Amino acid sequence: MSYTLILEIVLTELNNNQKGKFFSEVSKFIPTQDFQSFRRAVGKKTEVYTVFDTEYDKIINLRKIIKLLDDDMTNFTICQKTEEKIITINLLDLENIIDEFKVVHQLPYFKYHPNVYESGRISYFKDICEVCNQESSFFNEGCYGESDLEIICVHCIASGKAGKEHSVFFNYQYPISFNDDNIVEELHLRTPSILSWQEISWLEHCNDFCAYIGEVDWEGVSYLESALHSDLTLEASKYNLEHGDLKKALDSYLVGHLFKCIHCGKHRLTTDLP
Ligand SMILES: [Zn+2]
Ligand SMILES: [Zn+2]
Repeated sequence: MSYTLILEIVLTELNNNQKGKFFSEVSKFIPTQDFQSFRRAVGKKTEVYTVFDTEYDKIINLRKIIKLLDDDMTNFTICQKTEEKIITINLLDLENIIDEFKVVHQLPYFKYHPNVYESGRISYFKDICEVCNQESSFFNEGCYGESDLEIICVHCIASGKAGKEHSVFFNYQYPISFNDDNIVEELHLRTPSILSWQEISWLEHCNDFCAYIGEVDWEGVSYLESALHSDLTLEASKYNLEHGDLKKALDSYLVGHLFKCIHCGKHRLTTDLP
C-alpha cells in the first residue's frame, strides 16, 4: 500500500549558531525551490518535509536531515501516513525502508552504474514510460539517437528494450584498452549515463569498463591517494596543475568522478569542470 512520510522538526533545543549551521548544511542537498518552504515550515513547526514512498532521492534526503540532528529523536518525528492511518515510525523503520527500497520496487541493477539510484541520474516521479507504456516512478531522462524519447523507465534500459526498439543509446564511449562488442553494447544500450558537465571518459581496468561510483571531492577520496596516483598525475596535467593544486581544485571548482574496477577492485578517477 502506498504511503507518505512526513518529517516534523522542533529546533528549540538548538541555539542560533547551531540552527544556522543546520540550515546551511540542509541547503547543500535540498533543491533551492524546496529549501525555502522547508525553512518556513521549520519555523512554524509544521510538516517540514513530505515524501512519497517512491521518491527514493527524497527519502535519502530525509535521512540526511535527521543525521544533521545527530539522530536525536527529541528533535524530530517521522510519521508514515496511508489512506487509513498515520503512525509514528522510528529510525530503524526508516533505515529498513531505505535498505529494502530497491527490492520492494524491483529495481534493476546496473553493473557499470551500481549507484545509479543515488547518483542523481534517475528521476522519481509518476508517469507513463514512452517505451513500454507502463506506469513507473523511476525514469532516466534523455538519451542519444534519432528518437525523441524523453522519459524511459529503468526497466526498459536494463532489458535493452529502449535501445533495441528505438535505436537510442545512453553512452557513447568506446574502450581504449580492450575490444569487446558485448561490453560496448552493455554500456551503450543498457547502462544509464553519468550526470556530468563536460564529456567524460568511462574509465577502464582489467580489460573492462569500470563501475561508476559517483561524484567525489578530494576530502572524500584522499584515503585512496596511492591507488589514484597515476590518474591524479594525468588529471593534473590536463589543467596544468601541480598535484597539490589539483587536490585543492577538487575541493572547490572541479568535480571528481570515481570509478571502481569490477574485477580487481582498483579505484580510478577522472575530473569534470562544471
Ligand atoms: Zn518502460
Ligand atoms: Zn582491475
